[in-house]
Amino acid sequence: MSPTIPPLAGKLDGLRSSAIRDLLKLTARAEIVSLAGGLPDAELMPRARLADAAAAALSHNGCLQYTESPGWAPLREVLAERESGRLGRPVPLAEVFVTHGSQQALSLLAEVLLDPGALVVVEDPAYVGALQVFRAAGARIAAVPLDAEGMRTDALTELLARGERPAVVHTVSNFHNPGGVTMSSRRRAELARLADEHGFWVIEDDPYGELWFDGPAPAPVASYSRNVIRLSSASKILSPSLRVGWMVAPDPVCRAVELLKQGADLCGSALTQQIATDLLADTAWLTAHVDHVRGVYGERAKTLVHAMRSRFGDRVRCSDASGGMFVWADFTDGTDTELLLPGALAAGVAYVPGAAFAVGGGYRNSMRMCFTTSDEPTLELAVDRLAHAVAVRNPQPTQP
Ligand code: PMP
Repeated sequence: MSPTIPPLAGKLDGLRSSAIRDLLKLTARAEIVSLAGGLPDAELMPRARLADAAAAALSHNGCLQYTESPGWAPLREVLAERESGRLGRPVPLAEVFVTHGSQQALSLLAEVLLDPGALVVVEDPAYVGALQVFRAAGARIAAVPLDAEGMRTDALTELLARGERPAVVHTVSNFHNPGGVTMSSRRRAELARLADEHGFWVIEDDPYGELWFDGPAPAPVASYSRNVIRLSSASKILSPSLRVGWMVAPDPVCRAVELLKQGADLCGSALTQQIATDLLADTAWLTAHVDHVRGVYGERAKTLVHAMRSRFGDRVRCSDASGGMFVWADFTDGTDTELLLPGALAAGVAYVPGAAFAVGGGYRNSMRMCFTTSDEPTLELAVDRLAHAVAVRNPQPTQP
């Protein structure tokens, strides 16, 4: 008799790998230039400095032990000082909580803040990692579009005026993934005002804020209201393998997250938290390191945007790439980026079609390109290949 296979939880029914993701598995082929991934460049990660910090940490037994659930206290002290500078107010230790990357903060916060059926507002296009977490928590999702100034707070105001009562509004305020844009100071203040007036939480998800190219990002949304939970991470400035992210949130939120973290993993890694402390506390070294990463990414971003604009002219509109890791491009000539993808892969270039980030459909003429892991000549080659794929699919003259 064949065994009866037990079912998975019903909440998994709606959660499936998308067709686009399956197609993108093909981008691992060596001959393809992939602008599809969302990874920082491993060549720029400070391997020697990390090795020294690891050796120093491993000279004691302490790094081999379990650590406190909210994070190793000296790391939280370094983070409290860093965040006090960002927020323009003293951040007490009780409001700093270390997580296994900021992704874990999203996941634990979804459990702490959302009852099934609660409304979560996300930006459209959305960070899919957040969307996945909120959907798994059984939330109802509403989307507010982005424009060049970030989240359209006028659209959020309309949603509130219709009587909708979000429990959480999620925003990637700086150098948006995938949209590339940064929320203006005016909109930050407005979002914070709405959160105070209507009593909802804002999750300000900020892993890219340090990666500015032209000038620092505006003051965080969290500097305007205590209803804002701010997330940040060492992943994009040091290394994602440390799995060190952090949250600044009011004490009751931190204590609730602490309870759930104990159930999830007891605590983070004392070893990687001690390594991260060493690097984050070495401010002279850190400033020079992050400056270098900014310089390299900034050149790559400008090369990609320039190549797109000169190759496609007004057939494509690109975000400015003033920081972060992504350029968002809209084809104004009706090119469907999902239909284009097989041809682009055949021509040797990969990107993520905009539809993968759409909350309720749309963005069929858009794409996300990641510029961090290719040097300038490779980015130019990628755009040449893309132009070739577009010309094959949709024969119109591209500019020489
Ligand atoms: N938020 C956003 C907007 C991201 O793009 C990412 C990484 N892709 C994360 C959170 C999670 O990063 P980590 O867990 O490595 O800190």
